[in-house]
Amino acid sequence: MRGPGAGRRFAHTEAVMDILILAVVLIALVAVGAVSGLVVSSRKKKQLPPPAPPSTPTITAPPAEPQVGEDAATTAEEQRRTIEEVGLPEAEAAAPEAPVAEAEAPAAPAIEVPEPTAGRLVRLRARLARSQNSLGKGLLTLLSREHLDEDTWEEIEETLLVADVGVVPTQELVDRLRERVRVLGTRTPAELRTLLKEELVALVGADLDRSVKTESGADTPGVVMVVGVNGVGKTTTTGKLARVLVADGRSVVLGAADTFRAAAADQLQTWGERVGARTVRGPEGGDPASIAFDAVKEGIAEGADVVLIDTAGRLHTKTGLMDELGKVKRVVEKHGPLDEVLLVLDATTGQNGLTQARVFAEVVDITGIVLTKLDGTAKGGIVVAVQRELGVPVKLIGLGEGPDDLAPFEPQAFVDALIGD
Ligand code: GDP
Repeated sequence: MRGPGAGRRFAHTEAVMDILILAVVLIALVAVGAVSGLVVSSRKKKQLPPPAPPSTPTITAPPAEPQVGEDAATTAEEQRRTIEEVGLPEAEAAAPEAPVAEAEAPAAPAIEVPEPTAGRLVRLRARLARSQNSLGKGLLTLLSREHLDEDTWEEIEETLLVADVGVVPTQELVDRLRERVRVLGTRTPAELRTLLKEELVALVGADLDRSVKTESGADTPGVVMVVGVNGVGKTTTTGKLARVLVADGRSVVLGAADTFRAAAADQLQTWGERVGARTVRGPEGGDPASIAFDAVKEGIAEGADVVLIDTAGRLHTKTGLMDELGKVKRVVEKHGPLDEVLLVLDATTGQNGLTQARVFAEVVDITGIVLTKLDGTAKGGIVVAVQRELGVPVKLIGLGEGPDDLAPFEPQAFVDALIGD
């Protein structure tokens, strides 16, 4: 028989056992918690690997190659949100479909945040230095002469013609200036500068609509086709335009329909990757029209804001060009009308550029002009001539090879850059 002492001991032993069991359970719970915490944090780490340092070269697995028709895991909307929310997004955020084996697969390229577009022309005004010297300074010097005689007016005309303003616009400008100077009577350098600037702005056209139309007005993306002969800067411009749009908060799909030039699709894809825009491409030498069609289809599927289509401009024969571009246009329009057709012209080519403009205008309805390489020429007057030639406004100008060297064209800022404030 156990006495009361034995009973108390037993009860005591039971209590000790209970405490021990409780402690074991608690330790087990803490251990499980810690392990799962590690798993969660390691998962988190996988989802958000640290961003590659900016100096790291972007030799990376391409962000999931856009396959037309595939169920895109990264929608354009997601890409845009990523840029907005994360700033410099993670590799995985840019390409969630990239292989999981991180050690083997290099990270996708770091996505850049392009510069805002407002005030670009003002920022880049020094790039017009050559035009500024020959046109702006030349005109001001001539106008500042003691006597504005017939010879001086002829020299003014010549200066405008050399700067590629074109014969008819030059005559108009000189006539108006002569008249205003006559009416004004006295003239100070400041007055002359103001007159000249006013007349130049009027010549360039202050009230033309220069916005690039990138909205379809429906639920579908706006579709922009970029045309021009090879070498003018068409692919570069398409890439820069994608950046402009992304900078303005729009999501973009690129269509590499220049299948003629070997490197064009790679070049365009690189531009796209830098801002998180997908590129739809096909085999080299493939059918440009079907790539353009697929690009728009992909844009619709992704809910993108804008589809930009780079084309090949082979001016071998007008019929050939017409067949090719005409087909691209027709096929794209199966999805809906084109919202903008931008003709890219190299400002350094002068009359040659005007001839190209004429041919393209016969083949497709050009709705806007992009003048590239204005940084490398004294012939800024081409802006006036080409607008007159086509009756279509210059909407964008290229002022360098840098990624953000494409500026919306603003007549007043352009004239201020040429003549000075
Ligand atoms: P594409 O054949 O018409 O597509 O021409 P690319 O886009 O390949 O451009 C041809 C060359 O012109 C490239 O070296 C570009 O960097 C250069 N380029 C394009 N736009 C400009 C510009 O505005 N200024 C300068 N200086 N070079 C430019």
